[in-house]
Amino acid sequence: MSYPTRALDCFALAKELRIRHYENVMTARERGSLLVCGGVVLPWEIVEGFGEVEFFEGEPYGSAVAAHPELAAASVEATDAHGYGRDVCPYARSYWGAMFLNRTPWGEFPKPHFAVQYHHAHCGTNDKWFRVLAEHFDVPYYSIDYPRLRTATGTLTLAQLERYTEYLKVQYQDFIRWGEKVTGRTYDDERLIRALVNRRRAQQLWGEVCEMQKTVPAPLNLRTLYALMAPRVLCATRREGVEYLTLLRDEVQERVAQGIAGQAEERGRFMHDFVAPYVAMDIIKHMESYGAALVISLYICNWGGGIRDDGSWGLIYPFETLGGRPPANREEALRDIAHWDIQRDSWLKMFSCQARVSTALQFVEDWKCNGVIFHINRGDVGGMLGVLNARAALKERGIPTMIYEASATDRRDVDVVKVKDQIDAYMESLDLKALG
Ligand code: SF4
Repeated sequence: MSYPTRALDCFALAKELRIRHYENVMTARERGSLLVCGGVVLPWEIVEGFGEVEFFEGEPYGSAVAAHPELAAASVEATDAHGYGRDVCPYARSYWGAMFLNRTPWGEFPKPHFAVQYHHAHCGTNDKWFRVLAEHFDVPYYSIDYPRLRTATGTLTLAQLERYTEYLKVQYQDFIRWGEKVTGRTYDDERLIRALVNRRRAQQLWGEVCEMQKTVPAPLNLRTLYALMAPRVLCATRREGVEYLTLLRDEVQERVAQGIAGQAEERGRFMHDFVAPYVAMDIIKHMESYGAALVISLYICNWGGGIRDDGSWGLIYPFETLGGRPPANREEALRDIAHWDIQRDSWLKMFSCQARVSTALQFVEDWKCNGVIFHINRGDVGGMLGVLNARAALKERGIPTMIYEASATDRRDVDVVKVKDQIDAYMESLDLKALG
């Protein structure tokens, strides 16, 4: 049976917002805006409090440059030439290479005013990434120490939660004082609160989109979701990001009501874990050529939900430390951000093995998946944590899995012929035939 499909109205807006974001980054200095470099999971709403500012986040650059194969290849080779190994984070290698070459798809690599990033015990690249950048440009750098959260059960006691939240909040306070010194600007608490309200709303709206993927047929396919996700990642602290996500959520709701599918054939439903192989999206198309609908991914859901107290995955309603009301001042805002970052944010928690296993099992059930396809993104130390444990747990329960090695940013690390052979074997084992 084939399902009706329809192009998405919001697609053009998503593209426009992504282009505008990078235009703003490239012109920040000439417009008198601050330009700040850092990792994508930072609480950028705190940086918003410094006034007119643009963010040049690390990881999304890798996916953006994948559409420019010559530059993508030249960037990772330039990083090799600077002595960094091929097993270093693929996103960092792509970003550093662009910096070493002084090239981006939109012009020269812009010099930031400062850089900020987490120091994270589970991934050494996090902190190193922006230290290298700060040394390269000779600009100030602030490192936020994210506490190591591993516990025997994978969940925190109330005392641990309290201690870690305070530890992070104090650093956010210090970062603001430091930022005032290095920029000479006075921090604006109202901007912080506005940006935080936007970011939480964006999280919720994107979460609702992901929830609707549970419908049969799924209203969106995975390649579309990757493209639609960009404004959620790049503009979540801004009004235009929330407006876009509201339109998107409404449009997806309408598709569900009318039975519009992301792809005409949905002969099997799969979770694709984790990052996309952005430099080789023909791999994903090959899966779709069997009528495989890749309906969800933890990577995509991270921008919409969070880890609940019992370790399960779900939508988290904003400002739980404040009984649901927005913060009234800097102290409340920073505390709520720190609480989210410690207790809810699955990126920052870096997926304890327990959480990886339980979310994989939950996703298969909730999103009605017939199997799970794992992408081992070479060099992505943090993102790959617990993947093999999740695979083993799924296998124990008889859920068919496939694993392939590739890369988000380095085409040299992708053997497309081999991966397609693996896909053929996996799909045939599930009795799925290539569509005619
Ligand atoms: S978690 Fe993965 S993507 Fe993030 S910095 Fe570490 S290696 Fe890179």
